[in-house]
Amino acid sequence: MIMILDGKLTAKNLRAQLAVEVTELKTKASICPKLVVILVGNDPASQVYVKNKVRQTQETGMVSNEIKLAEETSQEELLKHLHQLNQDSSVHGILVQLPLPAHINESAVIAAINPEKDVDGFHAINAGLLFNGESSGLVPCTPQGCIILAKQYLGNDLSGKHAVVIGRSNIVGKPVAMLLLQENCTVTIAHSKTINLVEVCQQADILIAAVGIAKFVKAEWVKEGATVIDVGINRIINHEGTASLVGDVDYDEVVGKCGAITPVPGGVGPMTIACLLKNTLIAAKHSVEN
Ligand code: NAD
Repeated sequence: MIMILDGKLTAKNLRAQLAVEVTELKTKASICPKLVVILVGNDPASQVYVKNKVRQTQETGMVSNEIKLAEETSQEELLKHLHQLNQDSSVHGILVQLPLPAHINESAVIAAINPEKDVDGFHAINAGLLFNGESSGLVPCTPQGCIILAKQYLGNDLSGKHAVVIGRSNIVGKPVAMLLLQENCTVTIAHSKTINLVEVCQQADILIAAVGIAKFVKAEWVKEGATVIDVGINRIINHEGTASLVGDVDYDEVVGKCGAITPVPGGVGPMTIACLLKNTLIAAKHSVEN
């Protein structure tokens, strides 16, 4: 029996659990977790992501503000905003929506966020802690979501499983590989220069696709019974001229071969926002301890 890993439902359950913890924190420590999201420019997809992040944060009982900046905002001006938010003790989480306009250096912006408020988990301090296996808890959101979904099928013990990650980005590929290593998996990171990619993927008990190419992974690449986690979000135009979202995995082909699979949409995507809320709560709890 193939298991369809329902990210929507899992994210809903996680948000419900977080809402209980938020209420407890408000009662016991008299603080309300607060997330500030900065959006620079008018990218339509980013606008939707930011709106959803703000709405779901508020629905979980936390405070969330959006700072909307014009496309032509200078890097210096953006850094000034970050400096102010870093100083503001009522703000626990800061997220700058990526991608940024081309004239702004993403690395410089990420480096300017106080690592204790870096709810995306992209700051070099948080990435380094994850690499060292001594994480601050502020682990990138999409990778966290991938592990939660994989465990729904495989159980909590992933020891000894061969995990193949296709993609080596700082926001998905590398951090998810680190998390899988922490779970005692044998991890292979494949990328655009990997030779014999199909043969590499065929060895995977857990196959994570984070490539950004629509329907890239075919049934032939997948070992019978494998757990397939599809991170990709690709907009395609159908024969009828309508647009739809598909993953990096050819779902219709692979669903007949694997043991479990995440759909797109409704798989990893909803988990990303739920894990962002989790990180905001973690950052708020840390602020009480410090
Ligand atoms: P990226 O472009 O930064 O990285 C893509 C990776 O794929 C690169 O490391 C590259 O080496 C690898 N790659 C490219 N072509 C390849 C090929 N032919 N063979 C093997 N590897 C190849 O992308 P990203 O930011 O990591 O995102 C990947 C996908 O995940 C995108 O579709 C993105 O939209 C999606 N995404 C989804 C979420 C979510 O919440 N579900 C979050 C982040 C990214």
